Amino acid sequence: MRIDLHAHSNASDGTDSPAELVAAAVAAGLDVVALTDHDTVAGHAEAAAAVHALPDGTRLTVVPGAELSCVVDGVSMHLLAYLFDPEEPEFARERELVRTDRFRRGRAIVERCRELGADISWEQVQRIAGAGSVGRPHIASALVEAGVVATVSDAFTPEWLANGGRADVRKHETDPLEAVRLVRAAGGVPVFAHPGAVKRGRVVPDAVIADLAAAGLGALEVDHTDHDEETRARLRGLAGELGLLVTGSSDYHGTRKTVRLGEHTTDPAVYEALLAQATGAKPIER
Ligand code: AMP
Ligand code: FE
Ligand code: FE
Ligand code: ZN
Repeated sequence: MRIDLHAHSNASDGTDSPAELVAAAVAAGLDVVALTDHDTVAGHAEAAAAVHALPDGTRLTVVPGAELSCVVDGVSMHLLAYLFDPEEPEFARERELVRTDRFRRGRAIVERCRELGADISWEQVQRIAGAGSVGRPHIASALVEAGVVATVSDAFTPEWLANGGRADVRKHETDPLEAVRLVRAAGGVPVFAHPGAVKRGRVVPDAVIADLAAAGLGALEVDHTDHDEETRARLRGLAGELGLLVTGSSDYHGTRKTVRLGEHTTDPAVYEALLAQATGAKPIER
């Protein structure tokens, strides 16, 4: 079993449509892929249709999910949520709040970039983002198009879009304790995404992870491209102490990042344990 529990489509900042992501997951030899777009479930229906339309002899399970933008003591963090009821109103309202504020903030970031001499426009960013939950990676692509930086990841520096960078503007983000509560109340399973990704900025201290564990966090995403070996070992130890499961996943974003689908995977026993905790939705199978 090859299980990848973190992937983005163009419903947020990935470049594959949900149907293309399903095809890519089959091509990568995955058995299970989770669709975890930032603050949205907009890709779920298309992914489900694509799974149901797979040819005979091809099997894939899609775990419907999302990746929630959170902030604690000024430190941004991401919370993966799996198999929650997408209709549950309280959690749906919070996702909507974050998604809506992404537009205000996207415009403000574009304005900052223009003040700093980058010839990009909001219309351009909207064309790049399409119907997707708009974020800094779309603005990074605009900066690449304008020849300001060479690659998307080159835009995530203090000069431009990195957390606290010259053109960074904060968006509304949820308190993670509240987010854990919302996900559980919607029957879902919350998992802390890339908790040790120091290259993205400040990370959340262990004491906060302990609080999240006590509040119902299910797992830490340990095997992730943004974690070095030492970080993984430390996080594995922490998960053990706190009684949390450990996942691994690619955080695939199509061509917007270099990571490949299935580059990191989750143990089948851990996947089963996560499924056993979920009551809000079912995995999508053919
Ligand atoms: P936003 O959701 O708009 O705040 O943007 C966050 C997204 O930017 C993350 O989900 C990543 O896809 C991307 N990102 C953050 N840091 C980096 C980085 N250092 N290099 C490349 N992409 C990044
Ligand atoms: Fe992303
Ligand atoms: Fe993330
Ligand atoms: Zn992600």
